[in-house]
Amino acid sequence: MDSLRAIEAQVLEGGEPITPEQALQITTLPDEELLTLVDLAHRVRLRYCGDAVEVESLISAKTGGCPEDCAFCSQAARFQSPIENHALLPPEQVLASAKSSEELGASQFCIVVAVRGPDERLLDNVIEGVEAIRRETSLDVHCSLGILTREQARKLARAGVARYNHNMETARSYFPQIVTTHSWDERAATCRLVQEEGMELCSGGIFGMGESWQQRVEFASELRELGPVEVPLNFLNPRPGTPLGDRPLLPPREAIRICALFRLFFPHETVRYSGGRELVLRDLQALGLLAGVNGLVIGNYLTTTGRPPEDDLRMLDDLGMPRAQGHRPASVPLP
Ligand code: SF4
Repeated sequence: MDSLRAIEAQVLEGGEPITPEQALQITTLPDEELLTLVDLAHRVRLRYCGDAVEVESLISAKTGGCPEDCAFCSQAARFQSPIENHALLPPEQVLASAKSSEELGASQFCIVVAVRGPDERLLDNVIEGVEAIRRETSLDVHCSLGILTREQARKLARAGVARYNHNMETARSYFPQIVTTHSWDERAATCRLVQEEGMELCSGGIFGMGESWQQRVEFASELRELGPVEVPLNFLNPRPGTPLGDRPLLPPREAIRICALFRLFFPHETVRYSGGRELVLRDLQALGLLAGVNGLVIGNYLTTTGRPPEDDLRMLDDLGMPRAQGHRPASVPLP
């Protein structure tokens, strides 16, 4: 309890993130103090981010057939996962999906493709979709296209992509257990490029892959160094055919503690629920929104289905949390 009081003074009053040492103390708080921790994380979120929740929808514009070997991912070509692969969708189809997402209540739309990094044809095709969405909807457009060159990052920024998602996935020390076809440093380089070229960085990870609490704390500290404005929290949904297909689900209270921990590491940023929350948190999903989470992905994920968007929007209404409005980059004129 004393440690929480010191953390409250530092994070809530001072707006300063917790230190790794304080984070490790949080990981050992007894379960009876979990609600005290949740309450602190919620007050930090309200003070620095307000009560609104960012609502995003995403499209898997190219599914499966990826040459990389991320152990959690059913889209890696080398794993025998039962998914429906599809080639890159044409811009008209991406636009149609964006329009329905806007009707459902999203203010952000993310175009995701399963590749190591985009080739020029893919990039041009995605940019065509981005420009159409910016012309015909009021959505903020985000992209997640893998590892970028500087020139590619520049093109996306110029096309008006507000935010680029590139998850670092896990701690640097654990990354080689999860991915061997590219390195943590290669990913970090794209995170830096994205910001240098004028896009906001969205970068988070997946929990429940066998990493320790110490590695979660290490991961949060490493992410802070990269300076994302948004941190997506995914909870492993073990996909059949992948190397992590037999891993047990994270216990829901452990997932809630992760939400609170990341809020205290990122007092001013968006902490977003991403894949796996329905499966892992079950009836505790609303509690995460009271433990510092202030962003949601609604609708389906890349290869798994979410719950109906109406259920999520009702949850926000029930919690008295309004939906955030979009904020397009003012410097990029509409196409
Ligand atoms: S996580 Fe991304 S890069 Fe890794 S295998 Fe899946 S689609 Fe490919």
